[in-house]
Amino acid sequence: MAKPHDRWHISDKLGATRGLVKCGQHSTYPSAKHSVGRQWEARFRDDAGRQCSPTFERQVDAAAALDGSRTDVRRGVHIDPKAGRKLFGVHAAEWLAGQVIDPSSIELMEARMRLYILPTFGELELRAIQPGRIQTWMAGLARRGFAASTIRSARTFLSQALQLAVDDGLIPKNPCRVGKSTKAPATERTRVIPWTPERVAGILQGYK
Ligand SMILES: [Zn+2]
Repeated sequence: MAKPHDRWHISDKLGATRGLVKCGQHSTYPSAKHSVGRQWEARFRDDAGRQCSPTFERQVDAAAALDGSRTDVRRGVHIDPKAGRKLFGVHAAEWLAGQVIDPSSIELMEARMRLYILPTFGELELRAIQPGRIQTWMAGLARRGFAASTIRSARTFLSQALQLAVDDGLIPKNPCRVGKSTKAPATERTRVIPWTPERVAGILQGYK
């Protein structure tokens, strides 16, 4: 396991040189930041070369973050956590504006976005959109009586917008595409009720 940086303490050599008194709690020399902010810092560079230094209260958590980020950087999947702070609503508007399709399809996308997606996700940061929330959202739409086909298409647009966020490097994974928990509901079977001969005759009458 990687060793995170201890923000609260300095080396014995440095402490002795400076003539400091050892900290009673950790029996090593305190830094100027002792007890200010979280003790443990995971320092690493992301795949774009930016310095990241999230801090943690427990050493074990900082070490895990360090190990994880190093593996991610090697795999090229590490994302600066700040990038995912963009609001979904802002991102979705950009995604819609970038669609090059016929106007009626844009209208459908825009309507699905406004009616079904933005009320739940618009004010959320991209990084906060997790599979669990998507699952709850779809269940909520189903409870309100929306057709499975409507939910499917709304989910498709949500997924497309989130995929752009992945491609833009804002989030590491598309939460609509991880695991099976966010699968869209199967389209319900519609029972076909044949028209009575009287009804057919009546309709034909109407066309005369
Ligand atoms: Zn201490």
